[in-house]
Amino acid sequence: MACPVCGELFYAKLDVDSPAYDMRLDLKPVGEISEPWRLPECPRCGFVVYKAPLSRAETAACRAVVYSPEYKKALGRSSYYRAGLLYARLGKPPFPTANNFLKASWQEEADPARLREDQELALRYFSAALAAAGERDGDWEKAELLKGELLRRLGRFGEAADHFSGLLAMPEFKGNFLGDIAAYQLKLCARRDASPRSLQDVRDSKKPALRRAWIAVRRALENVKEKITGR
Ligand SMILES: [Zn+2]
Repeated sequence: MACPVCGELFYAKLDVDSPAYDMRLDLKPVGEISEPWRLPECPRCGFVVYKAPLSRAETAACRAVVYSPEYKKALGRSSYYRAGLLYARLGKPPFPTANNFLKASWQEEADPARLREDQELALRYFSAALAAAGERDGDWEKAELLKGELLRRLGRFGEAADHFSGLLAMPEFKGNFLGDIAAYQLKLCARRDASPRSLQDVRDSKKPALRRAWIAVRRALENVKEKITGR
Protein backbone atom coordinates (compact mmCIF):
# COMPACT_ATOMS: atom_id res chain seq x y z
CA MET A 1 0.00 0.00 0.00
CA ALA A 2 0.99 3.64 -0.42
CA CYS A 3 1.37 5.77 2.71
CA PRO A 4 -1.20 8.59 2.52
CA VAL A 5 1.14 10.91 4.43
CA CYS A 6 4.57 10.50 2.75
CA GLY A 7 3.79 8.36 -0.34
CA GLU A 8 6.13 5.49 0.64
CA LEU A 9 5.09 2.13 -0.89
CA PHE A 10 5.15 -0.77 1.58
CA TYR A 11 3.76 -4.24 2.25
CA ALA A 12 1.35 -4.38 5.16
CA LYS A 13 0.85 -7.61 7.12
CA LEU A 14 -2.77 -8.03 8.15
CA ASP A 15 -4.64 -10.53 10.30
CA VAL A 16 -7.33 -12.92 9.15
CA ASP A 17 -10.46 -13.63 11.13
CA SER A 18 -9.67 -15.69 14.21
CA PRO A 19 -11.69 -18.45 15.90
CA ALA A 20 -13.54 -17.80 19.16
CA TYR A 21 -11.29 -17.10 22.13
CA ASP A 22 -11.57 -16.15 25.77
CA MET A 23 -10.60 -12.68 26.88
CA ARG A 24 -9.35 -10.84 29.92
CA LEU A 25 -11.34 -8.20 31.75
CA ASP A 26 -9.40 -5.54 29.79
CA LEU A 27 -10.60 -7.35 26.62
CA LYS A 28 -7.12 -8.63 25.69
CA PRO A 29 -7.62 -12.02 23.98
CA VAL A 30 -6.30 -15.02 25.93
CA GLY A 31 -4.53 -17.91 24.23
CA GLU A 32 -2.80 -18.25 20.89
CA ILE A 33 -3.86 -14.84 19.68
CA SER A 34 -2.77 -12.42 22.41
CA GLU A 35 -2.27 -9.27 20.34
CA PRO A 36 -4.75 -6.77 18.94
CA TRP A 37 -5.40 -6.78 15.18
CA ARG A 38 -2.39 -5.47 13.33
CA LEU A 39 -2.55 -1.95 11.95
CA PRO A 40 -0.55 -1.14 8.82
CA GLU A 41 2.26 1.29 9.64
CA CYS A 42 4.49 3.20 7.24
CA PRO A 43 8.15 2.23 7.71
CA ARG A 44 9.31 5.70 6.63
CA CYS A 45 7.19 8.29 8.51
CA GLY A 46 5.58 6.00 11.11
CA PHE A 47 2.00 6.87 10.16
CA VAL A 48 -0.47 4.26 11.37
CA VAL A 49 -3.02 3.70 8.62
CA TYR A 50 -6.16 3.61 10.78
CA LYS A 51 -8.45 4.04 7.77
CA ALA A 52 -8.17 3.99 3.97
CA PRO A 53 -8.74 5.87 1.82
CA LEU A 54 -8.47 9.24 3.57
CA SER A 55 -10.12 12.39 2.24
CA ARG A 56 -7.92 15.29 1.18
CA ALA A 57 -8.72 17.19 4.39
CA GLU A 58 -8.02 14.12 6.58
CA THR A 59 -4.70 13.52 4.81
CA ALA A 60 -3.62 17.12 5.50
CA ALA A 61 -4.64 16.83 9.15
CA CYS A 62 -2.80 13.50 9.52
CA ARG A 63 0.33 14.93 7.92
CA ALA A 64 0.35 17.80 10.45
CA VAL A 65 0.15 15.30 13.33
CA VAL A 66 2.72 12.83 11.92
CA TYR A 67 5.31 15.57 11.33
CA SER A 68 4.76 17.11 14.80
CA PRO A 69 7.54 16.75 17.44
CA GLU A 70 5.12 14.87 19.73
CA TYR A 71 4.44 12.15 17.13
CA LYS A 72 8.11 11.89 16.14
CA LYS A 73 8.95 11.34 19.79
CA ALA A 74 6.44 8.46 19.82
CA LEU A 75 7.92 6.59 16.82
CA GLY A 76 9.35 3.89 19.11
CA ARG A 77 5.94 3.31 20.69
CA SER A 78 3.39 0.65 19.70
CA SER A 79 1.13 1.10 16.68
CA TYR A 80 -2.01 1.53 18.81
CA TYR A 81 -0.32 4.15 21.01
CA ARG A 82 0.37 6.18 17.85
CA ALA A 83 -3.17 5.53 16.60
CA GLY A 84 -4.39 6.89 19.96
CA LEU A 85 -2.25 10.00 19.53
CA LEU A 86 -3.63 10.49 16.02
CA TYR A 87 -7.23 10.10 17.24
CA ALA A 88 -6.66 12.51 20.12
CA ARG A 89 -5.02 15.17 17.93
CA LEU A 90 -7.58 14.74 15.13
CA GLY A 91 -10.37 15.30 17.65
CA LYS A 92 -12.02 11.88 17.16
CA PRO A 93 -14.67 10.81 19.72
CA PRO A 94 -13.32 9.66 23.12
CA PHE A 95 -14.59 6.03 22.94
CA PRO A 96 -12.52 4.91 19.91
CA THR A 97 -9.58 7.00 21.20
CA ALA A 98 -9.77 5.14 24.52
CA ASN A 99 -9.92 1.79 22.69
CA ASN A 100 -6.66 2.60 20.90
CA PHE A 101 -4.87 3.35 24.18
CA LEU A 102 -6.40 0.21 25.73
CA LYS A 103 -4.94 -1.92 22.91
CA ALA A 104 -1.63 -0.05 23.28
CA SER A 105 -1.64 -1.25 26.92
CA TRP A 106 -1.81 -4.87 25.67
CA GLN A 107 1.06 -4.26 23.24
CA GLU A 108 3.27 -2.51 25.78
CA GLU A 109 2.46 -4.74 28.76
CA ALA A 110 6.11 -5.80 29.24
CA ASP A 111 7.18 -2.19 29.96
CA PRO A 112 5.68 -1.07 33.32
CA ALA A 113 6.06 2.71 32.69
CA ARG A 114 4.48 2.53 29.21
CA LEU A 115 1.77 0.15 30.40
CA ARG A 116 0.83 2.61 33.14
CA GLU A 117 0.78 5.58 30.76
CA ASP A 118 -1.42 3.64 28.28
CA GLN A 119 -3.82 2.62 31.04
CA GLU A 120 -4.00 6.22 32.38
CA LEU A 121 -4.75 7.52 28.87
CA ALA A 122 -7.38 4.83 28.22
CA LEU A 123 -8.97 5.66 31.59
CA ARG A 124 -9.02 9.39 30.77
CA TYR A 125 -10.77 8.83 27.42
CA PHE A 126 -13.24 6.18 28.70
CA SER A 127 -14.16 8.65 31.47
CA ALA A 128 -14.64 11.37 28.84
CA ALA A 129 -16.79 8.97 26.76
CA LEU A 130 -18.99 8.29 29.83
CA ALA A 131 -19.32 12.00 30.61
CA ALA A 132 -20.52 12.56 27.02
CA ALA A 133 -22.67 9.40 26.72
CA GLY A 134 -26.26 10.04 25.63
CA GLU A 135 -27.84 6.58 25.72
CA ARG A 136 -26.95 3.46 27.68
CA ASP A 137 -25.88 1.25 24.77
CA GLY A 138 -23.21 -1.42 24.33
CA ASP A 139 -20.39 1.12 24.14
CA TRP A 140 -21.61 2.72 27.37
CA GLU A 141 -21.61 -0.67 29.19
CA LYS A 142 -18.13 -1.41 27.89
CA ALA A 143 -16.81 2.02 28.92
CA GLU A 144 -18.31 1.62 32.43
CA LEU A 145 -16.71 -1.82 32.94
CA LEU A 146 -13.38 -0.72 31.48
CA LYS A 147 -13.23 2.43 33.60
CA GLY A 148 -13.48 0.25 36.72
CA GLU A 149 -11.07 -2.35 35.32
CA LEU A 150 -8.46 0.34 34.58
CA LEU A 151 -8.84 1.89 38.05
CA ARG A 152 -8.25 -1.56 39.59
CA ARG A 153 -5.30 -2.38 37.32
CA LEU A 154 -3.77 0.99 38.26
CA GLY A 155 -4.10 0.05 41.94
CA ARG A 156 -6.80 2.67 42.69
CA PHE A 157 -8.86 0.05 44.57
CA GLY A 158 -11.09 2.44 46.57
CA GLU A 159 -12.23 4.34 43.47
CA ALA A 160 -12.63 1.06 41.53
CA ALA A 161 -14.78 -0.47 44.30
CA ASP A 162 -16.99 2.66 44.45
CA HIS A 163 -17.37 2.51 40.68
CA PHE A 164 -18.39 -1.18 40.61
CA SER A 165 -20.77 -0.73 43.57
CA GLY A 166 -22.40 2.07 41.59
CA LEU A 167 -22.75 -0.20 38.55
CA LEU A 168 -24.33 -3.00 40.59
CA ALA A 169 -27.07 -0.58 41.66
CA MET A 170 -28.06 -0.01 38.00
CA PRO A 171 -30.71 -2.16 36.24
CA GLU A 172 -28.30 -2.83 33.33
CA PHE A 173 -25.96 -4.71 35.70
CA LYS A 174 -28.57 -6.80 37.55
CA GLY A 175 -29.01 -10.55 37.07
CA ASN A 176 -26.72 -10.87 34.06
CA PHE A 177 -23.09 -11.55 33.14
CA LEU A 178 -22.21 -7.83 33.29
CA GLY A 179 -23.31 -7.90 36.93
CA ASP A 180 -21.23 -11.05 37.51
CA ILE A 181 -18.17 -9.17 36.18
CA ALA A 182 -18.85 -6.17 38.44
CA ALA A 183 -19.32 -8.44 41.50
CA TYR A 184 -16.09 -10.33 40.71
CA GLN A 185 -14.25 -7.02 40.29
CA LEU A 186 -15.47 -5.95 43.75
CA LYS A 187 -13.93 -9.12 45.24
CA LEU A 188 -10.62 -8.37 43.49
CA CYS A 189 -10.69 -4.78 44.83
CA ALA A 190 -11.28 -6.06 48.39
CA ARG A 191 -8.19 -8.28 47.97
CA ARG A 192 -6.23 -5.34 46.48
CA ASP A 193 -5.56 -7.53 43.45
CA ALA A 194 -4.39 -5.50 40.41
CA SER A 195 -3.49 -8.50 38.23
CA PRO A 196 -5.01 -9.25 34.81
CA ARG A 197 -8.01 -11.57 35.03
CA SER A 198 -10.13 -13.31 32.39
CA LEU A 199 -13.82 -13.83 31.74
CA GLN A 200 -13.19 -17.50 32.53
CA ASP A 201 -12.14 -16.36 36.05
CA VAL A 202 -15.53 -14.62 36.37
CA ARG A 203 -17.34 -17.83 35.31
CA ASP A 204 -15.19 -19.93 37.72
CA SER A 205 -15.92 -17.50 40.58
CA LYS A 206 -19.62 -18.36 40.28
CA LYS A 207 -19.01 -22.08 40.80
CA PRO A 208 -19.26 -23.65 44.28
CA ALA A 209 -16.13 -23.55 46.48
CA LEU A 210 -15.21 -27.24 46.03
CA ARG A 211 -15.44 -26.97 42.26
CA ARG A 212 -13.26 -23.80 42.38
CA ALA A 213 -10.62 -25.67 44.42
CA TRP A 214 -10.61 -28.49 41.85
CA ILE A 215 -10.17 -25.96 39.02
CA ALA A 216 -7.18 -24.42 40.84
CA VAL A 217 -5.57 -27.86 41.25
CA ARG A 218 -6.15 -28.72 37.58
CA ARG A 219 -4.63 -25.40 36.46
CA ALA A 220 -1.56 -25.96 38.67
CA LEU A 221 -1.12 -29.44 37.16
CA GLU A 222 -1.42 -28.01 33.64
CA ASN A 223 1.30 -25.45 34.48
CA VAL A 224 3.60 -28.20 35.72
CA LYS A 225 2.95 -30.22 32.55
CA GLU A 226 3.74 -27.17 30.38
CA LYS A 227 7.01 -26.62 32.21
CA ILE A 228 8.01 -30.29 31.84
CA THR A 229 7.11 -30.56 28.17
CA GLY A 230 8.34 -27.03 27.45
CA ARG A 231 5.14 -26.14 25.63
ZN1 LIG B 1 4.67 7.44 5.43
